[in-house]
Amino acid sequence: MSDKVITVDELLKLLKGRKYKYSQVHHTYQPDHADFDGKNHLSLQQGMRNYHMNDRGWYDIGQHVTLMPDGLFVTGRDFEDDKIDFDDTPAGIAGYNTGAFMVEMLGNFDKGKDRLTGKQLDSMVKLQHYLVSECGAKVMFHREHAPKTCPGTGIDKDEFMKLVNNYGKDDKKDEPKKSYPYPGKLIREGARGSNAALVQNKVGAKSDGIFGPKTKIKVKEWQTVHGLVPDGIVGPKTWKKMF
Ligand SMILES: [Zn+2]
Repeated sequence: MSDKVITVDELLKLLKGRKYKYSQVHHTYQPDHADFDGKNHLSLQQGMRNYHMNDRGWYDIGQHVTLMPDGLFVTGRDFEDDKIDFDDTPAGIAGYNTGAFMVEMLGNFDKGKDRLTGKQLDSMVKLQHYLVSECGAKVMFHREHAPKTCPGTGIDKDEFMKLVNNYGKDDKKDEPKKSYPYPGKLIREGARGSNAALVQNKVGAKSDGIFGPKTKIKVKEWQTVHGLVPDGIVGPKTWKKMF
C-alpha cells in the first residue's frame, strides 16, 4: 500500500471489523516536532521507511501508521489487505508484534521535549479508544517491554488510559455541555465565587466556590488529561476547553 495522509476517521474506517491483540504505542523520538513543517508528512514517513529498510534491514517501515503533530496519520506497513499474513505484522515490540496494531507518534515526548497535546492528542485518544472498544486490543507502551522510555517519559500511562477510557463519555451525558464565556481574568488559587464553583464542578472538586489547594490539584489533573499545561490556573485556554 502506498503511503497516504488520512484523518483519524478515515483510519477508523480502515480498521472497521479488524481485531487486534495489542495496540502498540510508540514515539518516533527522531524525527520530532521540530522536523515537521505542516506539509512534509510523506517525506518524513519515507525517511523513516528508508531508515528501517536500509539501515535496519527490515521488510518495510516498522509501523502501520505515523501520527503527525497536526492530528493526521500517514499509513505505513500494510494492514488493509484481506488476508492476514506476515506483512501485516509490525516491527515494534519484540514478542508482542503478532496480532498487534502499531502507531508511532511523531515527536520526542520525553519530559522537557515535545508535548502530546491538541490535535495530535485528540486523534491518538480517539484511535486508541476505537482499538480498545471495537478491535479488542490492549494498549501497550513500548517501555513496558523494553529498557526504553518510549513513548516518552512525559506521557503517564494511567493518565493516558483515563482519557482513552473516558473518550466520548462527556457527550453521552443527558445534560448538554454548558458553555460559559471566559470571565476575563484568571481563575486561580484564592479565587472565590460562582466561576470558582463552575471550575470545581468541572474538575470534580468540592463545589463550595472557594478555590483552594485541593481544587488546584484537581485542576492540574484535569489539564494534564486534556493536553494543557498543568499549571493549576484556569486561563482562557483551560476555560475554553472546560466550557
Ligand atoms: Zn518504541
